[in-house]
Amino acid sequence: MAEATAQQAATYKNFIGGEWRESEGGVFDVRSPANGELLYRAQRSTVDDVHAAIRAARQAFESTEWREDTAARTAALSKFSEAVRGRHQDLAAQLTRESGKPFPISRGEALRLAETTSYYAGLARWIFGRSQIPQPNSISMIMREPVGVVAIIVPWNAPLALLARAIAPALAAGNAVIVKPASYTAGSTVELGRIIESIEEFPKGIVNVVTGPGNPVGAALARDDDVDMVSFTGDTSTGREIMRLAAGNLKKLSLELGGKSPTIVFADSNFDRAIRGAINAASFYNAGQICIAGTRVLVEESVHDQFVGRIKEMVPKMKVGPGWEKGVEVGPVISAAQLEKITGYIETGKKEARLVVGGQRLTDGDLAKGYFVAPTVFDGMSPDATIAQEEIFGPVMGITTFKDLDDAIRLANHTRYGLVAAVWTRDINKAMKIATRVRAGSIWINTFGKMYQSTEMGGFKQSGLGRQYGLEGLFEYTELKHVNIQIEK
Ligand code: NAD
Repeated sequence: MAEATAQQAATYKNFIGGEWRESEGGVFDVRSPANGELLYRAQRSTVDDVHAAIRAARQAFESTEWREDTAARTAALSKFSEAVRGRHQDLAAQLTRESGKPFPISRGEALRLAETTSYYAGLARWIFGRSQIPQPNSISMIMREPVGVVAIIVPWNAPLALLARAIAPALAAGNAVIVKPASYTAGSTVELGRIIESIEEFPKGIVNVVTGPGNPVGAALARDDDVDMVSFTGDTSTGREIMRLAAGNLKKLSLELGGKSPTIVFADSNFDRAIRGAINAASFYNAGQICIAGTRVLVEESVHDQFVGRIKEMVPKMKVGPGWEKGVEVGPVISAAQLEKITGYIETGKKEARLVVGGQRLTDGDLAKGYFVAPTVFDGMSPDATIAQEEIFGPVMGITTFKDLDDAIRLANHTRYGLVAAVWTRDINKAMKIATRVRAGSIWINTFGKMYQSTEMGGFKQSGLGRQYGLEGLFEYTELKHVNIQIEK
């Protein structure tokens, strides 16, 4: 089944106004990061293609009943969810081919897309405003309306899960969308266009997919006056650039950006669970390419040696290889550029801290064909070190010790990011002090990575603007309108 999909997908076209269109800009190649094999080609779109997609979205938004027909939106999203669930093995196989990540992780992502669209399918009928009598003979209605045309720009590290939490609420709220996937994972996103096309409740042009580089394709979307909102997930520096581009017509923005998250391990924690939790948080399973990755591990002084000892024993056992091989726990990083960036940080880390695990590219046998990096751990990482402050976005964990609760809070907050934090302790008072004093959008106590469709997530500080998931994640894609009626006496 996977092979058939790859052949059909030899050249992906843009999906604009319900039609499959080629770009005048030609195509680009997408290769496997695990072995360099050519997987497919996709359109290198031009600014003209972007304008065509914006026109199609605007036309669909203005001329159809989509924005007022909540039942149609529920039906469309429910059918989409069912279709994704039905094809999840196929989509996961595609995602593993293009990203190299372990197949079970890809399958989880495809199912997450199904679950998130199902959740927002229900909420499409739960978009209420309020009413009020602010003074005699005056009635006010506060109505919630869609924003209009929303550009959704996503990265390659978890393309289906990250697209899901933007496209599902945007459509549930009644918007028209233009999706710009990252080039490395364009195929799995364009595949979704085929599903959209098969569902009659989606008016043509309500969902458009345009592939190509961040500049000019993403930039043209961020700049255009006829786009009302940009929902962006990616690097903090790109988020800043999008904010600048979006200033022209003061677009609404949802920005989900980078992180450098702390995992805090107290001596009184359930140590076995804390160690496994810290390894899971470091996100080696996605070669560390996860925004919420707990890359700064803060360990209480008294258990430091024991902690490092266990990490040195466990991390090197992780199986590295192409994600389609059974038992693989760590796939390749996405590209040559990413490999170079990560190994550069590892060399810096060797000067700044003590390397205790990994520390190099892996080139044994077939691994030489791909971009594999050994899961890497540094100990004695100073809080001001480059590797403690900059997002590496690779399989690299750094360990720093702390003395007491106040020290742990100070170190946890010693970053420009504020996406998530995890704490491992059996003392509820310590846990709740961390929960209230650490500046991050999600705090996990004795667990990591719990993200539900119904619970908001997002960044403090330079990790972003706005929230994803839950009701707030839906309301991001709405505008409030006040309508007032005077009753004649
Ligand atoms: P990136 O910022 O390089 O690219 C993200 C997307 O933006 C891609 O589709 C890219 O083509 C596009 N883009 C690039 N330049 C653009 C421009 N000038 N204008 C408009 N669009 C442009 O990020 P990446 O390397 O693909 O992804 C990794 C980053 O994403 C990391 O920093 C990671 O932390 C972050 N991330 C954040 C979250 C979160 O929830 N906060 C989730 C996943 C990833």
